[in-house]
Amino acid sequence: MRLDRFLANLPHCSHRQARLLLASGRASVNGEKVCDGTHDVRIFDRIELDGKVLQAGKPARFFMLNKPAGCVSATADPQHPTVLDLLNEPDKDELHIAGRLDFNTTGLMIITNDGLWSRRLTQPESLLGKTYLVETEDPIDPICVDRFAQGLYFRFENLTTLPAELELLGSRQARLTLHEGRYHQVKRMFGHFNNKVTALHRERMGPLLLDPTLAPGQYRSLTQAEIAQI
Ligand code: URA
Repeated sequence: MRLDRFLANLPHCSHRQARLLLASGRASVNGEKVCDGTHDVRIFDRIELDGKVLQAGKPARFFMLNKPAGCVSATADPQHPTVLDLLNEPDKDELHIAGRLDFNTTGLMIITNDGLWSRRLTQPESLLGKTYLVETEDPIDPICVDRFAQGLYFRFENLTTLPAELELLGSRQARLTLHEGRYHQVKRMFGHFNNKVTALHRERMGPLLLDPTLAPGQYRSLTQAEIAQI
């Protein structure tokens, strides 16, 4: 929300008064004087007027979880444990998942209360790669390397997948980097070649690498450096 609108929403403050307050330099955001009414403020910002706190600002929270198999990437599920059940944190209803994984997919899952930040991480326009370790039922046809790089046609959505990098690690093992997140994308790409994915593990989202010290089901807060990378 714009700062002038935030101020004009206060009781007894008109739009004109809000403009005057701003012009006289009486408002501050996160300790900095702000005169520009178009300045964007969020629930995470501390907003003061004449040194009096109007909004304290919620802490933005960011977690990295090593998702185990057999757990749902959702905030609630009637049948199965969810990734949020694994977090011992207050106000979990304020958190959301940035980039879901299937029930049996394991690995890096990011959970936050900052929607703008998580959109930067997950939106295809940011072109951040998501890297998966894949195991398949049958040997992987080496032609997949070129075909994944060219893009595969998905009839249901009538689209061609963005170029993806496939690195063969063994006859049934590969590392795959996608730059988008379509429904069951990895399974469908291998399914295109009649090969079933038997295990799938996300090891990276853009610059964020799954912390190798996290056992399945464990999580930690992101560091300031990790948060700033997105
Ligand atoms: N692609 C899939 O098919 N499943 C996942 O969980 C993630 C990507």
